[in-house]
Amino acid sequence: MSTDTAYLAGHWAQVRQRVDEACRQAGRDPAAVGILPVSKTFGAELIRAAVGLGLHRFGENKVQEIRDKSPALADCAIEWVMIGHLQTNKARDVARLVSEVQSLDRLELAEALERRLQLEGRAIDVLVQVKTSPEPSKYGLPPEQLPDFLAGLRAYNTLRVRGLMTLATQSSDPVEVRGCFRLLRQLRDQVQSQGHDLPRLSMGMSGDFPLAIAEGATEVRIGTAIFGQRAYPAA
Ligand SMILES: *Cc1c(COP(=O)(O)O)cnc(C)c1O
Repeated sequence: MSTDTAYLAGHWAQVRQRVDEACRQAGRDPAAVGILPVSKTFGAELIRAAVGLGLHRFGENKVQEIRDKSPALADCAIEWVMIGHLQTNKARDVARLVSEVQSLDRLELAEALERRLQLEGRAIDVLVQVKTSPEPSKYGLPPEQLPDFLAGLRAYNTLRVRGLMTLATQSSDPVEVRGCFRLLRQLRDQVQSQGHDLPRLSMGMSGDFPLAIAEGATEVRIGTAIFGQRAYPAA
């Protein structure tokens, strides 16, 4: 086992254990909560080591990074998951390289993705990113627009809408953080009662995932706790 693989194996086992423990605390089945490793800012070599642990889905927040890393990992059958803000002019690369988009937050982007995916002859899973925190800098659809947005997405055959995603407020108050996760679940329940099938809730990161699991997360997106501290901040 390489040094990188041993390092990651320890972190991965620890994270899985903490996720399982959070599930037990919440009275939930650990099998119902997946972990998306977030590899942003880390290089192809470390990702290859993670592949050695049996991981094959990785979250990234910049299309350019996926472009840069994927050639060196072409033999690994990696599924790249886009979790960061997406500019419409990146739709072509997304259609070619990405297996899932969790940051869909506007129809203009859906339209661009649909056009490019049609050309590629592919369909992908998408999650709608909803803004649940009061910070002005956060991307995401305003909650009150969700019903109309979902109705609009029905026109796009290449986008399979599977659920919702959010980032919680950066507050140090767990009540406020948990409130963001609760809002996402309530929104999901509300649109589900209107006939949309949205089983997936992607919420929770290294610093707040137990709260997200308590509110019904079906997957948590974990970077730091698996790969370590990032050398530079990725917005
Ligand atoms: C970076 C990032 C994460 C992971 O954050 P950590 O705190 O390192 O676990 C999760 N979701 C999104 C959207 C991110 O950009």
